[in-house]
Amino acid sequence: MSAMNLATVVATIYSGATYTDIADFFKIMDTNYISERRFYDIQSQYILPTIATYYEEHMEDVLREMKGQCKPITLMGDGRSDSPGFSAKYMVYSFMKEKTEKIVHVQLVQNTECSSSVAMEKVGMERALDALLAQGLSIETVVTDRAPSIRKLLKDKYPSINHQFDVWHVCKGLKKKLVSLGKKKGMEDLLLWTRSITNHLWWCCQYCGQDSSVLKRRWLSLLHHITGEHEWTVDGETYSCSHGTLTGDQCLRTIWLQCGSPSFKALKSLIENKSLIRDLEQMTLFKHTGSLEVYHNVILKFAPKRLHFTYDTIVAAQTGPLQWRARQDLGWNAADVMELQLIGREIGDRLKNTGSVRRQVSNVRDEVGDADADEMGYVGGRDACSDQ
Ligand SMILES: [Zn+2]
Repeated sequence: MSAMNLATVVATIYSGATYTDIADFFKIMDTNYISERRFYDIQSQYILPTIATYYEEHMEDVLREMKGQCKPITLMGDGRSDSPGFSAKYMVYSFMKEKTEKIVHVQLVQNTECSSSVAMEKVGMERALDALLAQGLSIETVVTDRAPSIRKLLKDKYPSINHQFDVWHVCKGLKKKLVSLGKKKGMEDLLLWTRSITNHLWWCCQYCGQDSSVLKRRWLSLLHHITGEHEWTVDGETYSCSHGTLTGDQCLRTIWLQCGSPSFKALKSLIENKSLIRDLEQMTLFKHTGSLEVYHNVILKFAPKRLHFTYDTIVAAQTGPLQWRARQDLGWNAADVMELQLIGREIGDRLKNTGSVRRQVSNVRDEVGDADADEMGYVGGRDACSDQ
């Protein structure tokens, strides 16, 4: 097999493109490209097995590293389905270690294994957590969104684990509700406060000193501040805002809400919502899963939700942890990962000629590096694809 064909398939996969994307590109350029049959042959024979092997080795290293640490572990978890809405065929549940931001476990679930697509997240998390606990890891805290099935699972099956809610998700949900209220007639002034309110929730969690009573009191103080009242009394105790003295100009320019106005009443109902107040008790450690969201965006590049993928390629999309590690730890880019896998011993073993592949890839890279645009036109051309 030509090294250029191999490099072409790897480059296509690692650029997050599909065969059709690149084939269309070359068609417009009036240049030959590797055939579809050959592309998928190389993908299934060499690329996917290599990714699987490398992925397993990488995850074993991560696990070994975690086992070597004696400090209790905080994990951030979230599920990602393969399609928008509630018709997912696959769900990938990922756990990221908070301190290192390394993906420590990825669990793939198919909808045929669950009663509904919604149940897949719970099943994925349970399997992932059981697998990590079976390794003897001391998991102290798990951070997730507020999905009812997940909170019930952690409460019933893993009562010793501290379940914290992701502040980022709660702020996101709150913003959505505020924007929805602000679109109603007579409540437009709420839109002016949306950002300040979500920032306030973030600040309350960050500086509550892990004390839920302080967190709740500060959160509810919002209802005083937003009406222009910065000092107030509760049960004989006097409290005040933490922002210091406002200037006359600040007071005049701010659109304070009027007590008893429709927007104030709607906001009060939202701020004092019983389930939100109860859930603040599980937000005292100020944990958020922003890094996990970024990681899911990396995966999205390789397995967009609008396209259908086979089981094998969904598994291969788990190579996200490799990409993630490359970016985070080593400063590598995708091309470096590609090179690592191209020249990796797995491919070499399969081709029975590692040295030859390495030389071919190296030669190809030298040629491309020295070539001008016309010379590069041979990529995927008949000469390069002579073994088809
Ligand atoms: Zn105030």
